[in-house]
Amino acid sequence: MKILIVEDEKKVASFIKRGLEAEKYDVTVSHDGADGVRRAGSGEYDLIVLDCMLPKKDGLTVLKELRGAGCLLPILMLTAKNETDDIVAGLDAGADDLLTKPFAFAELQARVRALLRRSGQDRGAEIRFADLRLDPVNHKVWRGQIEIILTAKEYSLLAYMVRNAGNVLSRANIADNCWEYPFETFTNIIDVYINYLRKKVDGDFTTKLIHTVRGKGYILQEG
Ligand code: CA
Repeated sequence: MKILIVEDEKKVASFIKRGLEAEKYDVTVSHDGADGVRRAGSGEYDLIVLDCMLPKKDGLTVLKELRGAGCLLPILMLTAKNETDDIVAGLDAGADDLLTKPFAFAELQARVRALLRRSGQDRGAEIRFADLRLDPVNHKVWRGQIEIILTAKEYSLLAYMVRNAGNVLSRANIADNCWEYPFETFTNIIDVYINYLRKKVDGDFTTKLIHTVRGKGYILQEG
């Protein structure tokens, strides 16, 4: 597994690099945002650890450019401040997970493992529900013949719902499976993402698939 670290602080970058190498990952460090975008686009990495504060291009810009260019790699963002605004902006821009500095190395390892495991699980056969079709290799989604463009996070949320179609999923279930951090902090993020998904998946279609179960959570079902 090859990991790209985009971080200009040399001490932090080498701390992460050494730790991940000890776990047998093949690690490359990039020291600015522009170089990070270039390397990330090469197609040789399995995961990116991306710092927010970077020279040339900041982390959010890098993230938006990569997602905008169709990059579907799992991206773990590092933020210096524990600010909800940064966290929400990062998630909106398509980060799969966020970690606030300073962090314990064990926590970084756990999140890297979880992200790689999840993206690995996704590489199976097509999954379907009603007229929805998900391609886990390329993270593409269609309803009937119409392709629906989703961010990485929206895709992972929809894939989780499709795998559990017909079951009521609480926000805690969704948080546990699609996010890595404690659920209490991010209650409304789940609702925000469900709304994004609804607009894209159900918006123009007569048959609605994503439904709210009052007081309990959400369910994927026909009609
Ligand atoms: Ca930095």
